[in-house]
Amino acid sequence: MGIFRFEALKETLNRIPVDFKENGKHSENFGINVFSENTMRQYLTKDAFNSVMDAMEHGSKIDRKIADQVASSMKDWALSKGVTHYTHWFQPLTGGTAEKHDAFFEPIGGGNAVEKFSGGALVQQEPDASSFPSGGIRNTFEARGYTAWDPTSPAFIYGTTLCIPTVFVAYTGEALDNKTPLLRALQAVDKHATAVAKYFDKNVKKVTASLGVEQEYFLIDKALVISRPDLLMTGRTLLGHSAAKGQQLDDHYFGSIPQRALNFMRELETECMKLGIPAKTRHNEVAPNQFELAPIYEETNLAVDHNSLMMDIMGKIASRHNLRVLLHEKPFAGINGSGKHNNWSLSTNTGVNLLGPGKTPMRNLQFLTFFINTIKAIREYEELMRAGIASASNDHRLGANEAPPAIISVFIGEQLTKVLNDLEGVTKGKLSPQEKTDLKLNVVGKIPEILLDNTDRNRTSPFAFTGNKFEYRAVGSLANSAKPMTILNTIVAKQLKDFKIEVDSLIKNNDLKKDEAIFNVLREYIKQSKDILFEGNGYSAEWEEEAEKRGLSNNKTTPLALKAIVSKKTIDLYKEMKVLSEVEVRARHEIQLDEYTLRIQIEGRVLGDIALNHVIPTAVNYQNKLIENVRGLKDIFGDEFETIAKDQMDLIKKISEHISAITTKTNDMVEERKKANVIEDVEEKSFAYCDKIRPYFDEIRYHCDKLELMVDDELWPLTKYREMLFTR
Ligand code: ADP
Ligand code: MG
Repeated sequence: MGIFRFEALKETLNRIPVDFKENGKHSENFGINVFSENTMRQYLTKDAFNSVMDAMEHGSKIDRKIADQVASSMKDWALSKGVTHYTHWFQPLTGGTAEKHDAFFEPIGGGNAVEKFSGGALVQQEPDASSFPSGGIRNTFEARGYTAWDPTSPAFIYGTTLCIPTVFVAYTGEALDNKTPLLRALQAVDKHATAVAKYFDKNVKKVTASLGVEQEYFLIDKALVISRPDLLMTGRTLLGHSAAKGQQLDDHYFGSIPQRALNFMRELETECMKLGIPAKTRHNEVAPNQFELAPIYEETNLAVDHNSLMMDIMGKIASRHNLRVLLHEKPFAGINGSGKHNNWSLSTNTGVNLLGPGKTPMRNLQFLTFFINTIKAIREYEELMRAGIASASNDHRLGANEAPPAIISVFIGEQLTKVLNDLEGVTKGKLSPQEKTDLKLNVVGKIPEILLDNTDRNRTSPFAFTGNKFEYRAVGSLANSAKPMTILNTIVAKQLKDFKIEVDSLIKNNDLKKDEAIFNVLREYIKQSKDILFEGNGYSAEWEEEAEKRGLSNNKTTPLALKAIVSKKTIDLYKEMKVLSEVEVRARHEIQLDEYTLRIQIEGRVLGDIALNHVIPTAVNYQNKLIENVRGLKDIFGDEFETIAKDQMDLIKKISEHISAITTKTNDMVEERKKANVIEDVEEKSFAYCDKIRPYFDEIRYHCDKLELMVDDELWPLTKYREMLFTR
C-alpha cells in the first residue's frame, strides 16, 4: 500500500477521540466575549452609549471624543479578559476574513509601558492591503485602502484578540470588501420597505432584513485529508473512484452523530455561544461524514459576520480534534455537495414579519405585497441572482442533480399558487363593494389558515417560500453570504421603490382607494412574473427546456454567469440604489473572474501532478508485477501460457491504454494552459480556462479512476473514497 495512505489510515484508526467538557450552560456563555449592548451599558458613559446605539440604529456618525471613550472602555473590557491585541476584522473580496493584530502595549519611555487604544485606532486603520484584490481600483487611483469601524456589528474577543468589525475601502471611497455594499443594500431595502410598510401601518419606522444561514460541511480525519494532495490544495478530490456504498441507503441523514463529530460540534457550539452566535441546530446531512450547523436568524449584516467568523472557528476547533472541515461545495464526486441555505425575511421595528401572513385581511394584504414584490424582483433580476452565487466550486453543485439547478426559479407551494391565480383575476380599476368583500373574505382572509398546512417542500428549488421566509438554497457552502444578500436586498429595494411609485400614481391619477390601487398593481405583477414560478422537479431535463421557452437564463459556468454583474441593467440598478458604482462593479467582476481562473489553474496543476507522479508510476509498477507473472507462467507452461495468462495480458494492455490516455491528455491540458496564460483580457482568459482546460479534468479523472479499480489495492498511493468517507 502507498506508504502515505497506509500511515494516514493507521493514524486515523488509532485516534483517541478528543473529549470536550462544556463549561457552563449555553445561556450563561452566550455573548460573554461580545462587546454587546449589555456590556456597553456597563462600560460606557451614558453619552457614549447613546451615541453608539444611535450609530447602530440610524447610521449616525460618532464624534472623535466619543470614539476615544468607546475605545478606552473597549480596551478596559478586553484587558479584563486577558486580551493583549486588537485587530480590524474585515472580509476582503476573495475568501475568508482578514486580520492584522496590533498589541495594546506601548512603551512610554524610561523602560515603562502602558496598554493603549485610542479612538483613532478604533475608527480607522491602514492595513498593508496591497496584496488584497482590488480589481485595479487601488492601482489606478491611490495606492492605499483603509478599514473603518462598523458599529452595527459588535466588537468581539477571539482568542486573545479584540476584533473590531470593519469595512475596507480605498482612499477614493470605493468599496474593497463584501461588507460595504451589503450595508448599502440593507439601507436601501430599509428605506423602500419602510415606505411601503407605511401603507399598512403608519408607525413603521424601520425595516430590517433578517438572515438565517444553514451551513453544511464535511468532517474528515486530518491525516486522511493530508494524505490527499488534491483535497489539501484545492479543497476537493480531483480523482478517486466512488465507494461501493455511497449515500443510497440514506442511513446517515438525521442518524446518530458519530462521537468524534459530536465532540467537535459541542466545542464549536460553545465557542459560538461565547461569541454571541446563536448556534441552534446540528445534524447529520445526506452524505456520509457530512453535517450541518444552523444558527438562529439575525439581522443580516450580523448574520453574515457571524457566518464568516463561524467558518473560521470551525477550522480551528476541527484541528484540535484532529479533524479537517471541508467547506468546498463538492469535495467528493458522486455524493451530495454542500450548500449554505440563506433564509431571508423582512421585519419591522413594530415586530411584524412582512413575509409572514397575519390574522387580519390588512396584515395579509401587506404579506401579499411583500411576497409578490419579492417574486417580481427575482423575475426581473434572475440572472443577477445566479451571478451572485457563481464560483468555480459552486459550479460543481448547481445543476448536478442534487442541488438547485443553475436556473433560478421560485417555489411557493400549491396553496399560494392558487391565491396568486385568484388575485390575477381581479377586475382592473375600481372594485365593486361585492368584489372587495369577496377578496377580503375568500382570498386574502384565508391565507393564515392555508399556510398552516402548507407543508410541501421542494428540495430541487433554488429559491423557495417556506411559510414566513424565503430560502435561497443555491448559495454555496464556501460562499460569503454578503454577495447574494447584497443582490437580494438591492433588487427587492428597487422593486418596492417602483411599486410605491405605481401605487401612488394610481391613487392620485385614477382616483383609486389605497387597497384598490395595491390590488391593481399586484395583479399586473403576478402576470409579469409568473414565469419565474416553478413547482416541479428542478433537476429534470424537461424543466431546462421549459425554462428556456420561458426566457429564463441557464448559465452553467461562472464566467458566463458573471456577465450579468456588468450588464447595463445591473450597473443602472446599483447606481440607482447607491449600492455600487460602475467602477466598483467592474472591479468586482474582474476579481471574480481572476479568482475563477486561478482556482481552475491550481486544480489543473494539481491534477497533472497527481496523474503523472502518483497514478502513472503506480500503474507502471503494478504492470511490471503482471509482466513478471506472465513471464513466470511462460517459464512453467511453455506455449500453453497464452491461454493461462490471457487475463493478465489483457490487463497489461488495458493499463497501457489508460497510461497513454492520461499522458496524452495531461500534456494537451498543459499546452492549453500555456495558450490561456498569455491571454491578457481577464474575461477571455477565464473563458479559456472554463471551456478549454476544465473539460480535461473529467477525462483525465476517468482514466485514473479506471486504474484505481485495476491496480493492486496495496500499491495504490491515494487514500480511497471509502476510507475518507467511512473511517472515523
Ligand atoms: P429548515 O429550513 O431546515 O426547515 P428552519 O425553518 O427551522 O429549518 O430554519 C432554518 C433557518 O431559518 C434557521 O437559521 C432559522 O433561524 C431561520 N429562520 C426562521 N425564521 C426566519 C425568518 N423569519 N427570517 C429569516 N430566517 C429565519
Ligand atoms: Mg432549510
